[in-house]
Amino acid sequence: MLVVMQAQATEEQVRAVCQKIEALGYRAHSMPGAQRTAIGITGNKGEVESGSLEEMPGVQEVIRVSKPYKLVSRDTKPDNTIIKFPNSSVTIGGHDLAIIAGPCGIETRDQAFTIAERVARAGAQFFRGGAYKPRTSPYSFQGLGEEGLKIMAEIRDRFGLLIVTEAVDYESLELVDQYADVIQIGARNMQNFSLLKRAGRARKPVLLKRGIAATLEEFLMAAEYIMSEGNYNIVLCERGVRTFADHTRNTLDLSIVPAVQRLSHLPIIVDPSHGTGKRNKVTPLSRAAVAVGADGLIVEVHHDPDRALSDGMQSLFPDQFDTLMAQVRQIAAVLGRSISKAAEPAVLAGTSSAGTSRQSTS
Ligand code: PEP
Ligand code: MN
Repeated sequence: MLVVMQAQATEEQVRAVCQKIEALGYRAHSMPGAQRTAIGITGNKGEVESGSLEEMPGVQEVIRVSKPYKLVSRDTKPDNTIIKFPNSSVTIGGHDLAIIAGPCGIETRDQAFTIAERVARAGAQFFRGGAYKPRTSPYSFQGLGEEGLKIMAEIRDRFGLLIVTEAVDYESLELVDQYADVIQIGARNMQNFSLLKRAGRARKPVLLKRGIAATLEEFLMAAEYIMSEGNYNIVLCERGVRTFADHTRNTLDLSIVPAVQRLSHLPIIVDPSHGTGKRNKVTPLSRAAVAVGADGLIVEVHHDPDRALSDGMQSLFPDQFDTLMAQVRQIAAVLGRSISKAAEPAVLAGTSSAGTSRQSTS
């Protein structure tokens, strides 16, 4: 159920409707939009008795949402969700593209700083890096844990990059919520419903990756889990699905970008690194992702990929990332979009070209 308020409805009228919904034993989700506010109702087992709501001052109509996902639906919120960050002009889902780059995993402080400097210089606004790595083998590198989060927090201070990192369980989610700017939920956890609910109670925006065999509806329902707990700042991420094709690690499903945009107001970005698994395919698919209308990219970059502890084969060299950024800027311009500049901290100011005057990072 969705209560659509009149365009001129006052804040008190919206509040009164929310209170009424809660008094009926349901949960109210107020979604202000450019034209009008809609209030989503969740927690109802069956039909909500709409008569009493319909008659309240400021209410335009009460409509049934026929889709299984409600809060993520464009029916509930026609305008795109734009995610903002405190003390930063960076956004996700607005006019500007969000570029997230960094290694698969944080391995050492030096490794992370070396890569962060290059991606910041190339124009990324976000630094990625796993401190908790969900690996297929229990004997593979599992991440540095909280130590990795501390390194990333230092990187934010030094380079002005916002931090994106994965949480794999309740405990790591609590720490990631404290240290990072965006909480990543990985493909393997897309249907870990208790983790999704916990992320829904977190303070930070959530980057939700599509499961390796998830349909569009399952993907949106996973986002609905997070939203239903009150966290409305969600970025969806296409990262490839498993198919019969074996020339790539996964098959990047770019058609999901316009499909999501039709059904949902949430931003969607693309991960061409896990989506292909092959370095030589990351730049072409990044170009395609921007051309198809994605709101951003998340790309793995490593200065010494042959020695990377995870996903070296799909990691770009920093010089390749520079080229990718130059190309993506031009494609974005064709679509009337651009790549916003991250805050330029002192450490990057005063040097002009990428990589020519690298400063000591230790
Ligand atoms: C990652 O981003 O490093 C990662 C593990 O991604 P995914 O969950 O998409 O496999
Ligand atoms: Mn990886």
